[in-house]
Amino acid sequence: MKFNQLGGTGLEASRLGLGGIPFQYISQHETDGIIRSARERGVNLFYTSRMYRDSENKIGLAVKDRRDGVILGTSTHKRKKTEALQDIRDSLANFGTDVIDIYSLHNVLTLAVLKEIMSPGGAYAALDQMRNAGHVKYVGISAHQPETILRALDDAAFDVVEYPLNMVDREADEGLMEEIRSRGIGFVSIKPMMFGYATAAGPALRYVFSRKPDTTIVGVYNQDELAENLDVEAGGDGITDEEMFQAIAESEKKCYKVFCRRCRTCVTCPQGIDIRTVLRWYEYFDRYHSWDWARERYRGLRPGLDACDNCGVCERECPYHLPIKREFARAKVDLMPRRSARRLFQKKILGR
Ligand code: SF4
Ligand code: SF4
Repeated sequence: MKFNQLGGTGLEASRLGLGGIPFQYISQHETDGIIRSARERGVNLFYTSRMYRDSENKIGLAVKDRRDGVILGTSTHKRKKTEALQDIRDSLANFGTDVIDIYSLHNVLTLAVLKEIMSPGGAYAALDQMRNAGHVKYVGISAHQPETILRALDDAAFDVVEYPLNMVDREADEGLMEEIRSRGIGFVSIKPMMFGYATAAGPALRYVFSRKPDTTIVGVYNQDELAENLDVEAGGDGITDEEMFQAIAESEKKCYKVFCRRCRTCVTCPQGIDIRTVLRWYEYFDRYHSWDWARERYRGLRPGLDACDNCGVCERECPYHLPIKREFARAKVDLMPRRSARRLFQKKILGR
């Protein structure tokens, strides 16, 4: 296992870490086994989120007697100081520890959300307070837009950034990662498997490692998946660069028309709906089964999906020809409160 310095934190992180999403769906026994095997092969970074249900508890129990050298990370999606403080206290209890290595602000999507977080009563103040109190060593932020990340880094002291980097979503590799690292901030690449669109770990991870983030987080559901990922890290996958480039081209083709690249072209929606944000939340709902989290986020969206009049402007402008209207029809059923979705269906589809 290779290790890298995580920015200026002084932490030496394995370049492959484990994310917490799968642990909410498997048993404690299975989690223990995966984390034990991962530790034996050098993985020292375990990163989750408050939104991934009991994953903190399971990781905490799995490392309880083997904390030496383990880096624990988690995140809150709360935006207010009081709520984030409670989240941090809950995380400490769940992990069974007095100190969490990295605590992040999860999925800060827009500048408006960032502004709320950075206000005196915002979530950043909670992280800062707990960092000063010694319960959090380093503060991180995850986002999906360069301008949000760069503004956050200008505004406050962050130690770590989590940002998507994969065969299809290569924005971070176009200067952003270097900018972040030049400020002495650790870069954790996330979503290497493209929300599950990448079916083989080999080329997907090979690509991410070739871009040299400080570390990358993968989710594994069983020992076979763990071993496959670790073999790629160890260079034993036998994949040539040519095969990797071929896989990138195939992924581009496969993701064409299904995977939102957040290119922002659809900001021209006449109704002002934040299309890429809705699609992002719906990916969490649909592919990560973060149902409550996605519905909760959606509740605050203005204008909401009920403002969509099916004009089709977005689909005509989307360079990747995403079936936005079809996805919105599904999202309406899944994200909107049942009664509103039914009323909308009757009005817009049945014309009643
Ligand atoms: S134009 Fe298409 S790919 Fe770009 S952000 Fe909008 S939906 Fe996503
Ligand atoms: S179809 Fe809906 S989301 Fe797309 S541009 Fe028209 S109003 Fe906006």
